Amino acid sequence: MASSSNILKASGTTRREFLARAMAVGGTGLLLANMKAWGMDIASLEEAPPPLQGSGKGKTVVVLGAGVGGMTAAYELSKLGYTIHVIEARHFAGGRCQTARSGTVLEELGGEKQVCTFDKGQYINFGPWRIPFNHRSTLHYTKEFEIPLELFNNDNDAAYVRFDQQPGALAGKRVRAFEVKADMRGYVDELLAKSLQSGLMDQQVTAADKQLLIDYLVNEGHLDNKDLRYRGTSGRGYQRNPGAGLVPGPGIPSDPLGFSDLLQSKMGLIYHSVHEFEQQATMLQPVGGMDQIAKGFEKRVGRMIRYHSEVTQIRDLGDKVTVQVKDTVTGNTSSISADFCLCTIPLSVLRRIDTGFSDKFKAAMQTVAYASVCKIGLQMKRRFWEEDHGIYGGHVLTDHMGINLISLPSSNWQGKKGTLLGYYNFDAVAAEISALSLAERADHALTAGEKIFPGQYRASFESAFSVAWHRVKYNLGGWGTWSDEARQNSYPVLFEGEGRMLLAGEHMSYLGGWQAGAIESSWLQIARIHQRLSA
Ligand SMILES: Cc1cc2nc3c(=O)[nH]c(=O)nc-3n(C[C@H](O)[C@H](O)[C@H](O)COP(=O)(O)OP(=O)(O)OC[C@H]3O[C@@H](n4cnc5c(N)ncnc54)[C@H](O)[C@@H]3O)c2cc1C
Repeated sequence: MASSSNILKASGTTRREFLARAMAVGGTGLLLANMKAWGMDIASLEEAPPPLQGSGKGKTVVVLGAGVGGMTAAYELSKLGYTIHVIEARHFAGGRCQTARSGTVLEELGGEKQVCTFDKGQYINFGPWRIPFNHRSTLHYTKEFEIPLELFNNDNDAAYVRFDQQPGALAGKRVRAFEVKADMRGYVDELLAKSLQSGLMDQQVTAADKQLLIDYLVNEGHLDNKDLRYRGTSGRGYQRNPGAGLVPGPGIPSDPLGFSDLLQSKMGLIYHSVHEFEQQATMLQPVGGMDQIAKGFEKRVGRMIRYHSEVTQIRDLGDKVTVQVKDTVTGNTSSISADFCLCTIPLSVLRRIDTGFSDKFKAAMQTVAYASVCKIGLQMKRRFWEEDHGIYGGHVLTDHMGINLISLPSSNWQGKKGTLLGYYNFDAVAAEISALSLAERADHALTAGEKIFPGQYRASFESAFSVAWHRVKYNLGGWGTWSDEARQNSYPVLFEGEGRMLLAGEHMSYLGGWQAGAIESSWLQIARIHQRLSA
């Protein structure tokens, strides 16, 4: 049976055009029916907002939270003529979509007040920082808002790896990723090719495929065609690079690392044949900071946002929704009514608010955990990683406690100064790091970096900006995390919403911890709101 997408291809109609037509003919009911018939529901509309038609004039929707999720809903619903009120506790929009630059203020719960002192032009994306090419929904808005993008180098083979905690000759040694990748693959391919040739795998591989597979391995692992040995390759770097004249002339090739040393170091475990879906190249970033996305939305929906307004109570009264709001500057409370409410407040915060949800709904909210996550930006007065080591962007990997990676900036290459990400840690380790003072956090990051770039890292350091997302008041965690059981039992309950209340935000998606999840969950829920209010 031909799939619906094949049919669309054959008819030259895009899925979007088809849905627009269904909407025009039969309204949201037919639209949803068509989506369901394809087994896609509206969750599969990941490339563009749902093509909603009709009018929302005379109807009011209150959106709780002016993060990317809330602003997506405000932007799209307002196009239909709805009156939108966005209630936002902070004095700015964007939620987690923030970039720290000179003057950015952050005060964690129970922590010190931090004011960013980076130089003009220096910044750190301490929340979201990269957009994979397959997040079409995020890219939909960067295009629509004409936000310039640049490459984010997520995978630099010239970057270093250093593991101290493993046994063997490579412990505490700094090597380049291309050395590890070339040697691991080369040795493994050599073993497999020789096993094939000696007949050890005749049960598994047909005679016809055997030589084809050996050819593949020779090519993949840079093996010597004559004896199937791996002796190194130019791609793992030279002892001395080729150049002009007699010296360096053709250069001096490098020797492979020892196979057993590599295995013991466990460095090979870092790499996969390809990245997982959400880490794949091409990876992009907005020029000048990720908050360009938040600003793009805010430019269009800012007039609908009530800032420094903390939601303290939500009630579904059957024919309308009321939301009680506290002004965080004056302390005054007020109430706002609407025909429908879309709540994008993270569950970690929402479950502490007086919502009037059913016990079943409240219990479902409790099952979603929130990740402890820390990041630190370090401004360096010299881009020594580029100037002295030839590393342009990408991640240096280390097993130093609480670091995971040192990520080098993918912007302003060959500039004078640079701001790198000094650590990115999660869960128990993040809890530990977040207990340090701001100065101690910076010192911890510098100690780790100094091991990789001795004499340069600490000497180049100028200024730090760190965050522990689980200690940020209106987030209380980096992102929602679901157990299999919660996904199965709680997600459908929360997705369904209650009465005139629906939930959206990254937590209401299978793209948790990504802006695309916030956007796509909003797209999904605004179609349902429009359907309900159009009925
Ligand atoms: C460290 C880190 C790295 C990340 N990396 C990436 C990445 O590389 N790429 C990517 O695409 N995504 C990334 N993400 C995820 C991305 O930032 C989020 O998925 C997305 O920004 C969430 O948007 P949201 O609208 O769902 O929630 P939020 O942005 O949290 O918005 C919720 C809003 O609700 C407001 N609010 C909370 N409580 C109240 C209240 N009581 N009253 C009123 N308002 C309230 C908040 O102030 C906030 O503005 C990262 C996130 C983190 C933390």
